[in-house]
Amino acid sequence: MKKSLILLFLFATSAIFAQKTQVVAHRGYWDTPKNAQNSITALQKAQQIPVYGSEFDVNMTADGVMVVSHGPKLETIPDVQKATYKEVKQVRLKNGEKVPTLKQYLKQGKKGKIKLIFELKVHPAGEIENEAVRKSAEMVKKFNLSKDEVEFISFSLEACKQLAALMPGYMVQYLNGKIPPKELKEMGIMGLDYHYSNFVQHPEWVKEAHDLGMIVNVWTVNKEEMMQQMINLGVDYITTDNPELCIRLIESSSR
Ligand code: MG
Repeated sequence: MKKSLILLFLFATSAIFAQKTQVVAHRGYWDTPKNAQNSITALQKAQQIPVYGSEFDVNMTADGVMVVSHGPKLETIPDVQKATYKEVKQVRLKNGEKVPTLKQYLKQGKKGKIKLIFELKVHPAGEIENEAVRKSAEMVKKFNLSKDEVEFISFSLEACKQLAALMPGYMVQYLNGKIPPKELKEMGIMGLDYHYSNFVQHPEWVKEAHDLGMIVNVWTVNKEEMMQQMINLGVDYITTDNPELCIRLIESSSR
C-alpha cells in the first residue's frame, strides 16, 4: 500500500514537472484570410488548431449588453462602453461580421474543446463594474461552462477579486503586471497573466508562482526570440497573435 502511494506520488510530481508550455490565441486566431480580431470566425479558427485556449475581450454597452470587442474604439464608435447595443449592432468588423454578443460567443465556445480565456475589460469602478462582473458570471453559469472551460483575466484588480469570489474554483488571472505572485495569492487570485517585460525583469516570479500553486500566463508574445525565452522560463501559457509559430517552437524545445 505504502509503496503504491509513493509510486503514485512520483508519477504525479513527474507529470507536473513534464507539463509543457501551452498556447493561447490572442483575440482568437484572427490572422487568417477573411477574419477579424474577436470575431466568431477567429474563435472557430482557434478551435481548429492545438491551442490551450482562445482569449477574447468583453465590454458592457451603455444599456447593459455584454459584447465581445476590445474597445474603447469600435470601428466608427469612439467608445463601446458609451454606445447602445443598437449602435454596436450596426457595426461591421473588418471581415464583414457583426460584433458578437457575449451570448453568441459563448454559444460557439461551448462547441469547441479549447478553453475560453475571458477578458473582462476595465469598466468605471463601482456600480457599472459590479454589474459587468455579475453579468459575466451569470452568462458563464447560464451556458453551464465549467472551470475546465473558462478562465477569467482582467486589468481590474477589483474585478479579479470579485470574479474569484463569485466563481470559486475558476482560474482568475490578473493582467497588470506589477504585483508579486505571493501578494496576488493573498487576495485570492491564483494566476498572473503579465506582459513579458515583467518576467524579463522578474524571472524568479515564474518559480515563485509555481511554488505557490499558481498559474503563469504571459502576453502578448509575437516575436520568436521572446517566445523561446518564455518557453525556457517555463511559463504555463503564452498568449500570442501567432499561435502556430508558438506551437512549433514548443514542440521543438526539449525541456
Ligand atoms: Mg485582451
